[in-house]
Amino acid sequence: MNTRRVTRQFSVGNEHTGIVKIGGDAPVSVQTMTAGYTWDIDACVAEVNKLSDAGADVVRVAVPQRKDTEALPEILNQTRVPIVADVHFHYKRALEAIEAGVHKIRLNPGNISDRDQVNSVIDACSERGIPIRVGVNEGSIIERKDKERRLEELGKFFADRRQGHMIALMIAKLEEYMEIFEARDFHDVAISAKSIDPRLVIDVYSEISKRFDYPLHLGVTHAGPKETGTIRTVVALGTLLASGIGDTIRISYANDPVYEVEDGLEMLYCLGLRERQGVELIACPTCGRIQVDLFELIQAVRKKLTNAIELPIKVAVMGCIVNGPGEAEGADVAVFAGDRRGIIYVQGVRVANVPEEEILDRLLEECLAFEAKVKAGDAQLGEKAVEIVPPDPIGELGSGKDKIAAGQVEQITIDQS
Ligand code: SF4
Repeated sequence: MNTRRVTRQFSVGNEHTGIVKIGGDAPVSVQTMTAGYTWDIDACVAEVNKLSDAGADVVRVAVPQRKDTEALPEILNQTRVPIVADVHFHYKRALEAIEAGVHKIRLNPGNISDRDQVNSVIDACSERGIPIRVGVNEGSIIERKDKERRLEELGKFFADRRQGHMIALMIAKLEEYMEIFEARDFHDVAISAKSIDPRLVIDVYSEISKRFDYPLHLGVTHAGPKETGTIRTVVALGTLLASGIGDTIRISYANDPVYEVEDGLEMLYCLGLRERQGVELIACPTCGRIQVDLFELIQAVRKKLTNAIELPIKVAVMGCIVNGPGEAEGADVAVFAGDRRGIIYVQGVRVANVPEEEILDRLLEECLAFEAKVKAGDAQLGEKAVEIVPPDPIGELGSGKDKIAAGQVEQITIDQS
């Protein structure tokens, strides 16, 4: 991991939403965007609140129509997270959103480029202390209005389809656009330069980070379905974040945006860029030794523990005892499954041996009890009371019962004294 690159800092939000700092020494924040219509106030409020509950620090909404910006005052009134108005094509939507009290504006240099229009948005933001994200996108970077310039840009693009030209074009547009902000002495700006290609994302942000000291908003645009979008995103954003680049992130899946928030947070936890909130789950991939339905169990454990536990308790769910104890050594709470049973350990101490159908409830019970002990100062996270002693592979977990009954193996016990 490289040291985080130093950037300027600005704040977004107010006392009603809580203030989120972006850039500088602020933790990397997680953003997402609603998937529904902003004008549908009730649905939009419900979605924003759902995303905020999932851990989003900032939520963006699209405002393509007047009725979207008209809905903003009521949406802002009923939500408790900073809201960004995503503006394309119509600079007036930005002015209306600012008037409505939105907390941040996103402008796309690819479709709002008129200097006077940009200046009017900058001035309105400046007056109200609202930051702006300047977001270029690979898909909207090539000139559309000026036919001559479009031909020139397209010509260069098709003559050289390598990434180099696209990177140069994105940076040139950003430099040109940022000059408008510099001239206005407006510096509460974040920059993004997204593409669907993870290699281009890595290269363009690496270049941008050398040229600007504004906070960088990272993203792989239109990353696709979650199943493949996750890899696409982690390759690009994980690489950049690990090299110290990036102040705020947005993952873009063709799926419920709650996944974007969950995966964004998990990536930051894994990189040590955010302090984990809630349970950290470890689970084995299963193999031919498995004797419980571990995939179902781990999903059920995840569902059950996610909202129930606040502290970052490490919970290991292991399919058997072969690697279980070793892999779960660092866990606060662990369960090793056997023949339709599970043995549960807390801080290395065995506390229960229960049938498969009771594993879930007992695990939650033990996690809650452990959390209460930690909160009371009677236990510490990551601390072992004793080393984990593996359960008896044959007798206790019952995995060899049939063989013992058939006289194929002798029953053995492991001395746990
Ligand atoms: S813990 Fe056991 S079941 Fe799970 S992968 Fe390892 S050996 Fe296989």
